[in-house]
This record gives sequence, structure tokens and C-alpha cells, in this order.
Amino acid sequence: MHATEFQLPTRFGTGSLGGCYAPETLMQPLLDLEKALRRALDDPSFHSELKTELRNFVGRPTPLTPAPRLAEKLGLRNLFLKREDLTHTGAHKINNALAQALLARRMGKAEIIAETGAGQHGVASAAACARLGLKCTVYMGVVDMARQAPNVARMRLFGAEVVPVEAGQGTLKEAVNEALRAWAGRCDKAHYILGSALGPHPFPTMVRTFQTVIGEEARAQVLEQFSGLPDAVIACAGGGSNGLGLLVPFLGDALHRFAVEAGGHGTALGEHAARLEGGRMGVLHGCKTLLLQDQHGHTAETASISAGLDYPALGPELAALVLDGKVEVLRASDDDALSGARLLCESEGILPALESSHALALLPELAKRGFTSVLLGLSGRGDKDLSTYQTKIGL
Ligand SMILES: *Cc1c(COP(=O)(O)O)cnc(C)c1O
Repeated sequence: MHATEFQLPTRFGTGSLGGCYAPETLMQPLLDLEKALRRALDDPSFHSELKTELRNFVGRPTPLTPAPRLAEKLGLRNLFLKREDLTHTGAHKINNALAQALLARRMGKAEIIAETGAGQHGVASAAACARLGLKCTVYMGVVDMARQAPNVARMRLFGAEVVPVEAGQGTLKEAVNEALRAWAGRCDKAHYILGSALGPHPFPTMVRTFQTVIGEEARAQVLEQFSGLPDAVIACAGGGSNGLGLLVPFLGDALHRFAVEAGGHGTALGEHAARLEGGRMGVLHGCKTLLLQDQHGHTAETASISAGLDYPALGPELAALVLDGKVEVLRASDDDALSGARLLCESEGILPALESSHALALLPELAKRGFTSVLLGLSGRGDKDLSTYQTKIGL
């Protein structure tokens, strides 16, 4: 009924993924948000404000780093890394968090609600709120709070309130539920900054729009440095925001696009977060997409060494690109990711986030398939994962 009132496309691909499966109480705030987003995107002053903050606060453009020693080791002619690990707060999440915080301020909202799993999106949101003078409340599962304690401290230092969520598995899925509920109760004053290309319309479109700066910069940089395009572009995929951000600007190019999911520690339901092979169409957190579920349609538990990829649904736009044959999905196990991280550390002196290490782990496979020039999205830095690296690698 309400969907016809939306002006931006609410659905993706031939399978009509996405949509707006939201409770009645959220329909008006979602319509208002879409309207504000369209206005902002049509307003040159929003773009210049965003560009200035991306430069001065986030540190954009991020470099495109050639990785010749790693390329040689793998038998690739060229390997380029798009360095989102070098952004302020250490991952691509800040691109979206900052842009949505600017949008919220334009909408006259003084409060921000956010959810977080690993804590990267919570830290990015808390930093953006401190920068813009907005009040920030972050919902986080109790299990995640325990295993990501340094990020909880970072958020609190930035002045955010971190609200523990006890329900269910005590992880990201429950935190999103709680954040959506809180938003429904305070939507007159608060904006909800969702952390990936997920949720009800207009969130997936908005988050992807704010992340395409990654691929737009990378495409221009690779053309300048290499005077040609690579033959493969690869990124890791949790909800899909860094993946879409990198891959969408290359959709018109004749090259291969890859997204890498978390293969966890096994192939049975509950042992991984690989939604392409294990998932079926379902609805979670407001959108229709590929979802890991049991035979009764209950959302399945997931497992991954990287908290950022540990989510049961693939974002609807990325899932649609995959189903329509424009992006190929691969998977890397926990052990593969650790090997991927070591490869980059030893060859180039760069410590990747465990999430990004899933993409790195597939580089030997791409070389084996005959690709010679690869662009890889390094979504974040690995400082947050140091204790996992220490225990698993035995340092
Ligand atoms: C959150 C996160 C991811 C996964 O999220 P997407 O929305 O799929 O990009 C990947 N890498 C890092 C470093 C993250 O923090």
C-alpha cells in the first residue's frame, strides 16, 4: 500500500528482492527518511558538505596500494588494494555513518540510534556523532560486548551510550531488532543509522549510495596508475555494503566481480554464514533476500571467525546482483581467512581485518583461474582482531 509512495526503487533484480517489510509504526519515518535522502542527494550543498567531511575527518580519498610482492608470490601480474583500512576508525563503516549523521542533522534530528556487532559500525557512528554534536545510543548484544570490549570502550569515550541486548544469541541480529524497536518509539527525535546495505527501504539503497565512493575512487585510481582496468574485482560480504561500494561502479565494465562470504568452520547449517549455498529466500529485518533458515523458516544461527561477516542474511541488492549473474560468490573458511591475513602481513606489511582476510584468502584461487590483474577491497584494519590472530596463529 505504502510502497507506491516511494520514489526510489524499493526492489532489486529480477527476483524483486529488498522491499519494505516494516511495521506500520515505521512506515511514516521510512517515507520521511526517503524524502530527506532524495532532497539531500539533489542538493549540491549536501554533496559538498559530505565531501569536505570525508576529506577532513575520514581521510579520503584512501590510497590504492599496489601489492607487487604479494602479486608475485601468487603468480598475478598486478594486485591493487583499496585501502579502507586507512580511514578514520579503521573500516569503510565510517563512510556511511558520517553521511547518515549529516543527513540526520539536516532532518533536524538531534539523536542517533545505531546497532553494532563487532563494534566497528558502533565506533564509526559514535565518532560521527561526536564530530557533529549528536547524541548517540548504540545497541549491542551482550556476547558481542564481551568479545569486543575495546570497541565498547571506544564508543563510550566518544560519548555514546552502549545498551546491552540480552535477547537470543546476544549478537547482531538481536541488536538490530532492539534498535528498530527503539527507533519506532523515538522516531520523531531520532534517526536510525543502519550499518550495512540491509533493512527496509530506503536503507539498502542509502547505504550503498554512501559507500560507492570506494569504487568510484578505486576505478579512477586504477585507471590512472595502471592505465587500464583489472580483470577481477573482489571484496568480502557480510551485509554487503563494502562489496556493493566497491563493485557497483564496475558494473558497466567487462571484468569479473566477486564477493566472498564466511565459510566458518563447516558446511552444516549453523557452522557458517555462507548465504548463497545455504540460504533460501526469506524476510529478515525489513527486506526480502537470501537468508539462512531452518526447515521451519526460523532464522538460523551463524558462525564465523569474523564478527563482521557473521550475519544470516546477504543484503538484497548484492543478493540480486548474484542471482542475476553479475557478481559471483565464493566462500572462505575461518582457516582460509587466517592464511589470507598472513599472506598480506608477510608480503606487504599490512594487517588486514579478519573480514577482509576472507577476500585475501581467495587470491590464489583467482590466480589459478587465470586472472592476472586483481583489485581487492581491503575493508578494514586488523588491530581489532589482534587477540584472535594471537590465539589462532599462536604468536
Ligand atoms: C562490518 C565489516 C564488514 C562487513 O560488512 P559489509 O556491510 O558486508 O561491508 C567487512 N569488513 C569490515 C572491516 C567490517 O567492519
